[in-house]
Amino acid sequence: MSTNNKYSTLCIRGGLEADPTHGAILPPIYQTTTFRKKVVGEDQDFSYSRVENPTVAALEARLGALENSLPALCFSSGMSAITTLFLALLEKGDHVVCSDVIYGGTYRFLTEVLGNLGVSSEFVDTSDPALTEAALRTPTKILLLESPANPTLKLTDIQANCALAKQFGALSVVDNTFLTPVLQQPLDLGADITIYSTTKFIDGHNATVGGSISTRDEELREKLNYLRKCLGTIQTAQNAFLTLQGLKTLPLRLQQQTKNALIVARQLQNNPHIQTVIHPDLEDFPQKELAEKQQAAGGGLVTIILHGGLKEAARTLGHLKLCTPAENLGTVETLVTHNASMTHASVPPERRNQLGIVDGLIRISVGLEDPQEILADLQQALTIAFKEACHA
Ligand SMILES: *Cc1c(COP(=O)(O)O)cnc(C)c1O
Repeated sequence: MSTNNKYSTLCIRGGLEADPTHGAILPPIYQTTTFRKKVVGEDQDFSYSRVENPTVAALEARLGALENSLPALCFSSGMSAITTLFLALLEKGDHVVCSDVIYGGTYRFLTEVLGNLGVSSEFVDTSDPALTEAALRTPTKILLLESPANPTLKLTDIQANCALAKQFGALSVVDNTFLTPVLQQPLDLGADITIYSTTKFIDGHNATVGGSISTRDEELREKLNYLRKCLGTIQTAQNAFLTLQGLKTLPLRLQQQTKNALIVARQLQNNPHIQTVIHPDLEDFPQKELAEKQQAAGGGLVTIILHGGLKEAARTLGHLKLCTPAENLGTVETLVTHNASMTHASVPPERRNQLGIVDGLIRISVGLEDPQEILADLQQALTIAFKEACHA
């Protein structure tokens, strides 16, 4: 993996000096709602923690340093980052174009909530920029991309799609949760805004739910900041502190998780119960060239498609002993998800099949346990699951 070493330094040192009050090496947790009003004429950085808080600001400075952007804005969850973004930038009658395979919560918000407020969304296969271009003609306010897609790992050419957005006067937003700034830099590829669920790789330890948004555009940041204040969607000081700790090892974790993912993926290719194994660093990955152009490594997720359906997939999850069946991803623990019944259960079955989220698809977020033990656990679960399914 060719990650740039500069991220190791930035994740530990970026954007922050030692605490000015006592020289504390960790930014203190400012567990306070209120800050004393200064006298007229003095600068007032903080007044009330729904608006801004020094610990949250510390995380924002560090995340900003990672993308060479303005300080990020941090939110109580990935979804509150996403909902604040759309509510800040859209009004009734506006049109959004979005990757067809996206996070389930984003799909739900766009279709069920924004749809009722008079904002229309169109879901297109952005892995083909010609389809994006056709949809952008509407005219469109926001183009939202997710690459790699969840859970099929289909890639979207960020540079090509963002150039199209610019040409048609739309803002381009990339949900970069899966790769993080360490493995992919959408702002350098032309995106106006990146969004993150910091709950996943950035925290990485299953300790916090959180989100963030980065941009290099002052006016955009101000609009988002204003709406965060209106909605009260800011992160807490406690969570910002924990996220700062998790973030320090992000480059190391991604490096090892990518290695482990590739070990697991290569071995699973020989399992007779598996039809397809998907990981961007595998030799037979269909969009190999794009993967090498736009991301520094394939990341920690492996998707497998079984020779079987719901029954076999559910039983496989049920027989895991080491890995955890769960809906989260990106953490030090290996988490295994059956997307059709878990993250994408609210998507109608015909639509799921169309998108490739078939009943036999399992997403593995490979963690930091011994990769041979992860593999052995998956293999034994598959063996028992298929034996049982065959006798059932
Ligand atoms: C988890 C996730 C979200 C939502 O984040 P929460 O922190 O769970 O609210 C958004 N986008 C992607 C790609 C995710 O994986």
